[in-house]
Amino acid sequence: MLRAFIEENFADKKLIVITNREPYVHKKAGSGIKVEKPAGGVTSALDDVMRAVGGTWVAWGSGSSDREAVDGKDCIMVPPENPSYTLKRVWLSPTETDNYYHGYSNHLLWPLCHITLDRVYYRKRFWQDYKKVNQYFAAAVLKDADKNSIVWIHDFHLCLVPKMLREKEAGLTIAHFWHIPWPDWSVFRVCPQSKELLEGLLGNDLIGFQISLFVKNFMECVKESLDAEIDYNNSTIAYKGHITRLKAFPISIDYDKFNSMASSQQTEKVMENIRHKYKLNNSFIGIGVDRLEYTKALIKRLQAIDLFFERCERFRERFTFIQIAVPTRMKEPYISYKETVEGLITKINKKYSKGGWEPIIYIDRKVEHKYLAAYYRLADVAIISSVYDGMNLVAKEYAASQADENGALILSELAGAADELEGAILVNPYDIEGFSDSIKAALTLPKKEKAARMSLLRRQIEENDIFRWVINILREMLSVSSMKCEKCGYLFDRIDEIKDKLEGKKLLLFLDYDGTLTPIVESPDMAVIPDDMRSLLAELRRRLPIAVISGRSLEDIKKRVGIEGIIYAGNHGAEIWDGEKTIASQQSFVSRDLMQEFLNRLKESLSPINGVLIEDKGITASIHYRMVKERDLPKLFKTFTELSKDYKDSFRIVIGKKVFEIRPVDIWDKGDAVSWIIKNIGNGSAPIYIGDDATDEDAFKILRGKGINICIGGNAEAEYYLKNQKEVKDILQWLLKQQQ
Ligand code: UDP
Repeated sequence: MLRAFIEENFADKKLIVITNREPYVHKKAGSGIKVEKPAGGVTSALDDVMRAVGGTWVAWGSGSSDREAVDGKDCIMVPPENPSYTLKRVWLSPTETDNYYHGYSNHLLWPLCHITLDRVYYRKRFWQDYKKVNQYFAAAVLKDADKNSIVWIHDFHLCLVPKMLREKEAGLTIAHFWHIPWPDWSVFRVCPQSKELLEGLLGNDLIGFQISLFVKNFMECVKESLDAEIDYNNSTIAYKGHITRLKAFPISIDYDKFNSMASSQQTEKVMENIRHKYKLNNSFIGIGVDRLEYTKALIKRLQAIDLFFERCERFRERFTFIQIAVPTRMKEPYISYKETVEGLITKINKKYSKGGWEPIIYIDRKVEHKYLAAYYRLADVAIISSVYDGMNLVAKEYAASQADENGALILSELAGAADELEGAILVNPYDIEGFSDSIKAALTLPKKEKAARMSLLRRQIEENDIFRWVINILREMLSVSSMKCEKCGYLFDRIDEIKDKLEGKKLLLFLDYDGTLTPIVESPDMAVIPDDMRSLLAELRRRLPIAVISGRSLEDIKKRVGIEGIIYAGNHGAEIWDGEKTIASQQSFVSRDLMQEFLNRLKESLSPINGVLIEDKGITASIHYRMVKERDLPKLFKTFTELSKDYKDSFRIVIGKKVFEIRPVDIWDKGDAVSWIIKNIGNGSAPIYIGDDATDEDAFKILRGKGINICIGGNAEAEYYLKNQKEVKDILQWLLKQQQ
């Protein structure tokens, strides 16, 4: 799915990803070098993207043999087994690492954004090196970037990079994903460099956050700190002439991976071993999986478990809680935190242990995913107690692993995941009594309710997995990128220029239908022109000639618009209704029989895929796939691509918005229709064309330099863009005013 999306959209784009941590680390191993691949879900999804795009990934070269592995430009092709993209390393001295990474990132930004203000520790040298290192990253990107590049920055280590890039290369498309929470202004103002960080981030075109609360918090911080224009409805910020869009993209996991790992025979075996090793045969089992990190609130969790055993004696010897806690950032305050957690576990175990039973099993090392799936499957309940968390992937991994739906999720309402997931038992980790009651509730949940909740959780995660997350962000970046195209400006910013161009001229207005006069809808049948838009069109028609140019059949488009005196072109321009009669393009050498054969074969091959709609419009056809599930798309693309190869000499395929348009190679397109209409009906008029889709490009090309091309969402062939379909009404109203 991801690959198909990228192949379809990234052919002429260069993607540059920037992260603090690198996707491949070269380390000394005896006399040789070994390559390690950090296993995180996000890194692995980004690695998939980069393999498909073949761009550049810029990251800190932190491995002991990283320098030996790179070429003279600090680059190495990865992955080692199938080199497909460039990893470019940025070098940091030990002091810079200390100040930029351990200092500013981990001692200031991390606790600040997780609202643990007493842990915020700041020194001037942290900031000096943070700036310096951000400059290194920006310089490394600039050596590689050109105007067509899309730069995707990750996380809180690199706040200043967007502005640094923007200042040097204004045309770049820059997006940032902020993986951790964004706090509100009363917290963020604690940061001595709050203004500089916000200004740095506003160099982005797009900033993605985990949930909409963080978008709101960010806007509030900007409002308090900078003289910026904030559009709260559209979540955009205009600052010093540059617009930044903000949007929530809740991150996710590879659902299929966890689901299938959890159901494998190998996992059954591991489960058996765990049961045997810890003597868990008759117990209810609880699981906690975390980095040993204070924001995960292990202490509050342990206090709640302690209270649970104190109050629910019948669960003693019957409930065992397994805590996997991976040591992380092993410096202060983490060393002290580890000691406190371990001390509390020892105390609880001492208090309740009986016979061979201990209430808490503590595993203080990293467990690989294939074993983690077994722990998840074993557990009747997972407990997530974060006091603040961007998302919390463990919550999603646990649910994805409950293949038999026999598990309950206790989730802190202060984790981003709680905002998104329905079906979990929500707790406030600060309310220890409520928390301990919830543990009891989870363990005594009726089987049916437990399954219903888990099934709901699993469906949400399956539908919004990590690949969907990547695609959603990339799609947004592409949209930003096309709007930024130098040749294409926001129409309402250039309205005076348009007024000058049209001054004293007779106008001829061309309009596309789907996505222009109507919003894009699930099924083409549902695309009905709103009444106010129809009245506006009728009013305009009284003052200037209008042509509606659509991919629909001529009959269909005439009926749908239904206004007398409008010129209609159907089948992407192959047939034109000039007001009195139909003008068809020249006879095509492609026979109708061949189209029928192509469609019959498509119908048969695509029949196993739900949601495909084949629309036969006589001369042309459309294969709509808006209703096809994301997971079926690769199969759809593959089948369609394979089959259409047999017809490539006869038919042209244009990929539109969730639709393949099939058209004989030699019939008129929208550009030809526009030319014919201008020549025969509107000679001497100034043409204006408003469209939104790939098939409108033919018209934009014809009109470039001769008229006004307006594309919703932007297009390299159009001079102007509108931000969304709703703005079509605004520009039509403006035109009407000009005619009065
Ligand atoms: N993890 C792991 N092995 C462990 C403990 C954790 O692989 O022993 C992984 C876990 O599967 C999850 C990630 O670490 O993918 C933790 O992500 P989360 O969002 O829950 O917290 P973060 O550590 O990113 O704050």
